[in-house]
Amino acid sequence: MSPSTVIVGGSVGGIRTAQALRSNGYVGEVVVIDAEPHVPYDKPPLSKSFLDNSLEADRIRLISEPEVVESRIDLRLGNKAAGVDLSNRMVVLENGDVVPYDDLVLATGVRARPSPWEASDGVHLLRTLDDAQRLKEDLAGARSAVIVGAGFIGAEVAATVKKLGLEVAVVDPLEIPIGQVLGADVGSRFVGLHHANGVATHYGTGVDFITGSRGDLVVGLSNGVELTGDVVVVGIGAVPNVEWLASSGLALDNGLVCDEYCRAVGQPNVYGVGDIARWFHPRKKQLVRVEHWTNAVEQAVCVAKNIVRPSEPTSYAPIPYVWSDQYDWKIQIAGETAMAEDVVIIDDPANKERFAAVYGDSKGTYCGAATVNWPRAMVQCRRMLEGEFDLSEPVGVLRQMVSSSSKLRSASAD
Ligand SMILES: Cc1cc2nc3c(=O)[nH]c(=O)nc-3n(C[C@H](O)[C@H](O)[C@H](O)COP(=O)(O)OP(=O)(O)OC[C@H]3O[C@@H](n4cnc5c(N)ncnc54)[C@H](O)[C@@H]3O)c2cc1C
Repeated sequence: MSPSTVIVGGSVGGIRTAQALRSNGYVGEVVVIDAEPHVPYDKPPLSKSFLDNSLEADRIRLISEPEVVESRIDLRLGNKAAGVDLSNRMVVLENGDVVPYDDLVLATGVRARPSPWEASDGVHLLRTLDDAQRLKEDLAGARSAVIVGAGFIGAEVAATVKKLGLEVAVVDPLEIPIGQVLGADVGSRFVGLHHANGVATHYGTGVDFITGSRGDLVVGLSNGVELTGDVVVVGIGAVPNVEWLASSGLALDNGLVCDEYCRAVGQPNVYGVGDIARWFHPRKKQLVRVEHWTNAVEQAVCVAKNIVRPSEPTSYAPIPYVWSDQYDWKIQIAGETAMAEDVVIIDDPANKERFAAVYGDSKGTYCGAATVNWPRAMVQCRRMLEGEFDLSEPVGVLRQMVSSSSKLRSASAD
């Protein structure tokens, strides 16, 4: 009998695992189970082009129906998994069905952290297609919005909602929200970006209450200010979807705990992929969990290889990468920027909307980079993160890029 792999979670982590199994020559059965009824879709557009109506739902699909057939994926949508029986190698669904497996991939991701404040009508979370659809409907008749939380999702929603023509205010307890990731100097530029686009920021203050209902909501800040909005979006982080595994015996601690091969600890036939997986990163020598799209894709590829070739598993040691689109900034971040000791910002005098920041660790070794509207610089920065360089080296490369493009510009002006 041919083997079977069951993948629970049919978003980017689950679907890319199924596809990578096939491209690695896996001939067994591949079953993908997802709680949502929708054809698997991509989440990044939900705060950007889907929310601003430039992309419809059928343009954000992760896989087409012909591809499902061609890849021989048994896609079971609208089916919530309720538990795993490890000793009998079975997934138990909420409807009572059982699905046997030889290998099991857990890719149930995270959900938006619920709003701790009382009001609910007109107060939105954003994680799923249905969330985004509901938010779009409320925004259509609204004139103002308050965004609580200025992380990636909050900042992207603020930018999109502003583009739709609403008055927007953003609240965050941190003085410089992205400063934790990119440092205060770079973070201040992100604060300035909101202001330049006419968005009010209320940073360094928390939220005490939200009252009212759609069209007439009040967000009470800890500093006494009361903001009014027709719509409120709460973007205060996410929670791993692991509760359904509580009685399985799998190690759960802020996600599914996995070894360096992304195998659930003590369970060689169970793997974690994407936002749910907290795996032992062999270079960092610690458990990490990453909530970014590229990580889900790269981890899916690694897990598929390890299922196909379990006797020679590949360890998973990615260089982190994330992108974000806010207003007219295309933001790309790679490597370890949060723990850096030093940062050098490289501006392009000819283009004020583009810059790069490169980061060094305590030994002066290059460890991360962020770029704005400069994808070519990010290609160089990511390539150099694969080796070991003194911080001065990427700085030199980027300065050289600025100077060559300014020479090119003056030559073409001559
Ligand atoms: C609005 C938004 C914008 C984003 N923008 C970016 C961006 O610009 N750049 C970037 O790098 N990342 C971005 N991300 C993050 C990126 O989308 C996630 O990292 C990625 O979706 C993780 O994929 P995943 O498959 O691990 O989990 P998820 O996408 O969370 O999918 C998990 C799936 O599991 C299903 N599921 C959960 N529990 C069960 C169960 N018990 N039984 C069956 N199915 C279940 C869910 O229905 C869901 O389909 C964004 C995320 C959001 C929400």
